[in-house]
Amino acid sequence: MPRNPGRHDLGLRASLLFPDREIVERYYVPLVYTACRTCYSELEPDEIFRRAVDGRVDPDRQRELIGRVIESGHGSTIEHIVFTFGISGVSRTLSHQLVRHRAGVAFDQQSQRYVKYKGASTMEPGSIAEAEPALRERYEGQIAGALDLYGDLLAAGIPGEDARFVFPNATRTNLVMTANFRALIHMSGLRLCTMAQWEIRRLFQLIRHEIFAVSPFLGSFLAPKCVPLGYCDEAGNRDGHCPIRPHKDAVLAAWAERAKGSRAGRELPAPEAADAEATP
Ligand SMILES: Cc1cc2nc3c(=O)[nH]c(=O)nc-3n(C[C@H](O)[C@H](O)[C@H](O)COP(=O)(O)OP(=O)(O)OC[C@H]3O[C@@H](n4cnc5c(N)ncnc54)[C@H](O)[C@@H]3O)c2cc1C
Repeated sequence: MPRNPGRHDLGLRASLLFPDREIVERYYVPLVYTACRTCYSELEPDEIFRRAVDGRVDPDRQRELIGRVIESGHGSTIEHIVFTFGISGVSRTLSHQLVRHRAGVAFDQQSQRYVKYKGASTMEPGSIAEAEPALRERYEGQIAGALDLYGDLLAAGIPGEDARFVFPNATRTNLVMTANFRALIHMSGLRLCTMAQWEIRRLFQLIRHEIFAVSPFLGSFLAPKCVPLGYCDEAGNRDGHCPIRPHKDAVLAAWAERAKGSRAGRELPAPEAADAEATP
């Protein structure tokens, strides 16, 4: 089982910039409810929304419908609500992974062209921090050397957009990320998985924490993808080392075994056996 990155303070942060708890409580669940209910109602959306916001529709009933719709995979209903995060102190290693998500998500990132860093800050992985001191010192020396050279290049008049070529992947960066709720569930499914890289996994633990703080109901949908699926589909977990859910191979094998048992005695004889029986 990979170590839980949550045990280390990595110096990275994720804060929910928008919306606040009041907006989420008052409008977000009614908004998603309205999207779901519009599909099955003669009422116009603004009437459904007003009834949901002013409490004429029991909030438990709203949540129950939303839960059912999400479980059924009707994801467009949750694209109507978005969350904006300020993400800071993450490494460029992380940001490169994060911006691979394209659907339903927007990013703005601190520019290494326009910012002339006086003291660029870097991330040290726990495995290196706890490594044999001589090795750790070589790592730290290499990083410090790269940052020193960056300063020398700037001082010599090299533009920031070129001097930044010496920056290591460990260099920290800041982003603003806005994601609709469908995208956030999808990203969390991948990035909360124990197969995800430790730093991005930690980021999504913080993101989940922020959503929980404004809505435990919505926060409950942010989970490793195996949780809603009921099984793990990661090839790297065929050995079952991550125990959150059984691997799909194990689930299918158990299913096949059970199906075989339930058909016992009812199968047609195999062709060779039938031939042998027919031969006098
Ligand atoms: C554990 C892990 C290891 C990884 N390792 C690598 C690696 O070694 N190398 C590497 O390059 N990347 C790697 N990735 C990144 C991965 O391949 C994806 O690029 C990344 O996770 C973004 O996810 P997504 O494709 O679901 O995109 P999102 O933008 O989050 O898309 C959401 C969903 O929308 C749909 N969608 C989005 N765009 C399209 C489209 N153009 N056409 C059709 N459907 C679309 C898909 O159903 C997709 O799942 C890794 C990711 C993880 C989680």
